[in-house]
Amino acid sequence: MRIKLHDKEFELTIPTKRIQDAVQDMADEMNAQLLGKDVIFVAILNGAFMFASDLFKRIEFDAHISFIKFASYEGTKSTGNVKKLIGLNEDLTGKTVVILEDIIDSGITMEKIVDQIQELGPKEIRIASLLVKPDAFMRNYTIDYIGMEIPDDFIVGYGLDYDGLGRNLTAIYTNAEAIKNKTISKVKYFLLFGPPGSGKGTQSKKIIEKYNLVHLSTGDILRKELEINSKLGQIAKNHMNKGGLVPDDIILGMVVKEIEANKGTSGVVLDGFPRTVEQAKGLHKLLANKNYEISAMFALDVDKDELVRRLSERAKIGGRIDDTPDIIEKRIQTYKLTTAKVAEYYADQGKLHEINGVGNIDDIFKEISTIIDKLR
Ligand code: AMP
Repeated sequence: MRIKLHDKEFELTIPTKRIQDAVQDMADEMNAQLLGKDVIFVAILNGAFMFASDLFKRIEFDAHISFIKFASYEGTKSTGNVKKLIGLNEDLTGKTVVILEDIIDSGITMEKIVDQIQELGPKEIRIASLLVKPDAFMRNYTIDYIGMEIPDDFIVGYGLDYDGLGRNLTAIYTNAEAIKNKTISKVKYFLLFGPPGSGKGTQSKKIIEKYNLVHLSTGDILRKELEINSKLGQIAKNHMNKGGLVPDDIILGMVVKEIEANKGTSGVVLDGFPRTVEQAKGLHKLLANKNYEISAMFALDVDKDELVRRLSERAKIGGRIDDTPDIIEKRIQTYKLTTAKVAEYYADQGKLHEINGVGNIDDIFKEISTIIDKLR
């Protein structure tokens, strides 16, 4: 979708849902890490107002929020170009300050903001930015919470403006000329494959965060349908609570809808799909002759004892209907009998990458991201 602001055209590149998912993930991380601390959020105006509002709604612990400007100090000539924090009246001593930015671009401004807040004596400073451009990592601070990394293009929307316009848009749009000047690349699909409990969801999350991709988990979609007790959910339940597979036509119908809904993205991580050769063929048909390609399948290899151990652990905290000992056993069986064949289908196309799924989560992710880096 294209829009025009002043003299420039912009193309939709980060859909509303992708932004909201990223904000939710950031809030989840904060809710887990900051509970019990004396927290004040400090949002940098103007751009961060929308992000700050959406994020703060999702914060589940008691916290303060303050909005500041980083601007030339008005009133005295002598300050010249020196920029100062304006509007920060709270006492920060002993507090955990979480700086909220919509975007960190060159990173120079953030460096100065951190220096000035540091002087006010907080216990610690954490930085959260919805969007981060490559140069931001060259500076003298750590960005603790990142929504997504983006290329160095000119963007508007979700609080960001072009000469005053565009802040009200709920999605993010990129200057069309910048897109045109790049070679048109295909939307890349990465498949996360492996038995239940092999870490597909965990690794998918890390991939989408690092590369700004869309996460499409058929298991997650089905669980949502179950939750709202839709017709689809009722059909799916019969298969899921027996450790079997939901029929291919239902799954393919769901996937078609999701692909349509995420047209603007640069790539998709498919988690738990395709699970049958029929689904793999269906996906192939769906993507054929379109601007999409399946770049790689990552098959996580984990032995059965470890799978059972992980799923039983998850059962203690989870509340998933299918994490009971007998259903776990059936799901692993279904994987061996039906799903494992899908790996051969992609091996034949030279797209299969077998990854050892036992070990440190970050080490496994490093192995996967090294391959993705080569393919991009
Ligand atoms: P997951 O969260 O990926 O472990 O999926 C949970 C359950 O949802 C599976 O055990 C299946 O019953 C069902 N399911 C998820 N994805 C698919 C799929 N691609 N094909 C068939 N059934 C699926």
